Amino acid sequence: MSVQTDSEKRKQISVRGIVAVENVAEVKKAFNRHVHYTLVKDRNVATPRDYYFALAHTVRDHLVSRWIRTQQYYYDKDPKRVYYLSLEYYMGRSLQNTMINLGIQGTVDEALYQLGLDIEELEELEEDAGLGNGGLGRLAACFLDSMATLGLAAYGYGIRYEYGIFAQKIENGEQQEEPDDWLRYGNPWEKARPEFMLPVNFYGRVVDTPQGKKWVDTQVVFAMPYDNPIPGYNNNVVNTLRLWSAKSPIDFNLRFFNSGDYIQAVLDRNVAENISRVLYPNDNFFEGKELRLRQEYFMCAATLQDIVRRYKSSKFGSREAVRTTFESLPEKVAIQLNDTHPALAIPELLRILIDVENVPYEEAWQLVIKCCAYTNHTVLPEALERWPCSMLENVLPRHMQLIYHINFLHLQEVEKRWPGDMDRQRRMSLIEEEGEKRVNMAHLCVVGAHAVNGVAAIHSDILKATVFRDFFEMWPEKFQNKTNGITPRRWLLLCNPGLSDLICDKIGEEWTVHLEKLQGLKRWAKDPAFQRAVMKVKQENKLRLASLIERDTGVKINPASMFDVQVKRIHEYKRQLLNILHVMTLYNRIKRDPTAVNTPRTVMIGGKAAPGYYIAKQIIALACAVGNTINNDPDVGDKLKLIFLENYRVTLAERIMPAADLSEQISTAGTEASGTGNMKFMLNGALTVGTMDGANVEMAEEAGENNMFIFGMRVDDVEELKRRGYNAYEYYERNPELRQCVEQIRSGFFSPGEPGRFAHLADVLLHHDRFMHLADYDAYIEAQQKVSDLYQDQAKWAEMVIENIASSGKFSSDRTIAEYAREIWGVEPSWEKMPAPHETA
Ligand SMILES: *Cc1c(COP(=O)(O)O)cnc(C)c1O
Repeated sequence: MSVQTDSEKRKQISVRGIVAVENVAEVKKAFNRHVHYTLVKDRNVATPRDYYFALAHTVRDHLVSRWIRTQQYYYDKDPKRVYYLSLEYYMGRSLQNTMINLGIQGTVDEALYQLGLDIEELEELEEDAGLGNGGLGRLAACFLDSMATLGLAAYGYGIRYEYGIFAQKIENGEQQEEPDDWLRYGNPWEKARPEFMLPVNFYGRVVDTPQGKKWVDTQVVFAMPYDNPIPGYNNNVVNTLRLWSAKSPIDFNLRFFNSGDYIQAVLDRNVAENISRVLYPNDNFFEGKELRLRQEYFMCAATLQDIVRRYKSSKFGSREAVRTTFESLPEKVAIQLNDTHPALAIPELLRILIDVENVPYEEAWQLVIKCCAYTNHTVLPEALERWPCSMLENVLPRHMQLIYHINFLHLQEVEKRWPGDMDRQRRMSLIEEEGEKRVNMAHLCVVGAHAVNGVAAIHSDILKATVFRDFFEMWPEKFQNKTNGITPRRWLLLCNPGLSDLICDKIGEEWTVHLEKLQGLKRWAKDPAFQRAVMKVKQENKLRLASLIERDTGVKINPASMFDVQVKRIHEYKRQLLNILHVMTLYNRIKRDPTAVNTPRTVMIGGKAAPGYYIAKQIIALACAVGNTINNDPDVGDKLKLIFLENYRVTLAERIMPAADLSEQISTAGTEASGTGNMKFMLNGALTVGTMDGANVEMAEEAGENNMFIFGMRVDDVEELKRRGYNAYEYYERNPELRQCVEQIRSGFFSPGEPGRFAHLADVLLHHDRFMHLADYDAYIEAQQKVSDLYQDQAKWAEMVIENIASSGKFSSDRTIAEYAREIWGVEPSWEKMPAPHETA
């Protein structure tokens, strides 16, 4: 323990909230009351989990008045509402985040200490809310934090999956999936709102009536809302994340069984409720399952009813306190679609306006366009949603009709602009006619939205030049860029208190809401004392991660080694295989010459493979097998380790980012839309080895290319090589070290008990590699040598670390959200505080 001066202590305390004796006493009282009245225990029989729940309820109490008052304020002021629609919210834990955003962490820490309880141990008992797969779901979670912090009248809408992303177990070097029963012990953060339950229709048929089209003979499932509080940072705002859960109607199936089996009819209620049972575990991959289509529509239908209800019931609507016309809908409602997953919001809003509210078609369609905006997250063809018309026809017959009609009018416009250009009409159609007829949901979104954005500058440019080229020619004004960001509260203040305190010492605490203030650190980049302090925090974070890994895997880690980390979903395009080839290369060099490697490294790879993604699972198995060989080879010692980090998730990311020295961002240029992991590492003082892809490009722009290890093909090089024809053998034959690695994979060097084990992976690398690993191998190995050499000069390394932290301000999701607010939603962010409620809790 180092000795702290009083001023240091005060600064540390101020970011975590002022600690007053009376408040500590109140928290202790509230905690004891919850142990007694909520958990129905006394301290003789209470378990650690009881204490976690008592603590969660104690902290939750501090949200309640702010939550009610924020919602009342929105009702009174009737500002334009922002609706963020997403099939995923990768929230992680809520306890510490809530304490930090409310400014009560210091007080609660002290109270729990006085009660003789270990708060960190209790925090570990909270289940992650893992309602997401990776970057897209975590982005939605960061956006909720920023929208609340910027005072937007925003609502997240999604599905309350009973099972989130599976837990990954590594058994015998392979991934096993376990269901994520995260609600087993109850969820203290959510509040069910049965009074706002809404019906959602499926199947049935459309009939013509004098009053227009009617969707009849449908099967109804109810959507039960569960509200989750989203506190802004230090501004007394609490927004709502509303998650829908499927409920069977009371008479479900009974009318079909009125003479029949009552027991069976009750049991069958489960099938309707399957809609919100489980998150589909694919990242960047479209699996056209009907249950998934029903999930997407369920979320959109329930959400749009809620949006329209709130719009109509505004107290400024009319004298009868109901808005009866819709012309001001676009001044009151902005709907942001997180990828095409909620694309059915477009035909659903159109349907409500036309069929239910009797708005004329053309007027209704213009309202839809003005309200909706669409964010694209990928250009990978296998990820683009293309639902078969036959399936849509069956599940949502009215929507299929509307989509045909939208398409008919859309293609008329194309014909007007480019008469006789049938090929263009085919390319721009919402309906793909090749093979089975399908609806291209991205095309539906571009046509039905007034704004379309990519998630990093390079990605937005690629969209305009490739997948949406024709649409860009037709409507250049629709296309925008919104470079992704991360919330600095969770990804620095919460996960890295040591570094947060150090930064506060130098530049105060404004950076927590104005991250660009980190620029102020640049003047200390060359300061030896500050360099040492930053590296000391890094070392402490590394020791903490090392002991966690040793506890979980038994592998002893050299804490003096460079922590070289690649954590993200396992995917061919992210090229974990390139990383493994580098590790194998270092291993082979050490075996040839024990002095060959100048910098000891601990390479860590973590991430989940979609359960049906065979190659991704093989990549995990290869990483485990290579690690097993290297980690147990006495010739290697602690010069090199390869660890596979089990069950990568938000909570594990919070441990890893602060401890990383090197961040691996090595996707094939043009494939990673943005990346956000790259930003978390940068903010926490890791250096990046990466390709010019996604947001890496803008990171290099901000920090200077001299402060990153950029290597490999650019997008143009990749395109050029594709045109020429990529031939892996050229690279394989030219480089003996590379050849040795590929041969080792092929021949089972790392799987002696099963020589053919990884032959398929070698085959992929040599024969069907869309991501051209071998073309970037030389440049990657060279960049990694530069990394190793630089690590030898710890002062220079520290200088670069500080330059990176100081340059990471652009990547705050506050900046991203302020841009969405002004340039897409037409609302103004505010850093004003709401008045604090009088708290007695
Ligand atoms: C940030 C994050 C991601 C996204 O990482 P990328 O490297 O951008 O793909 C995925 N999973 C978790 C748990 C994260 O926290």
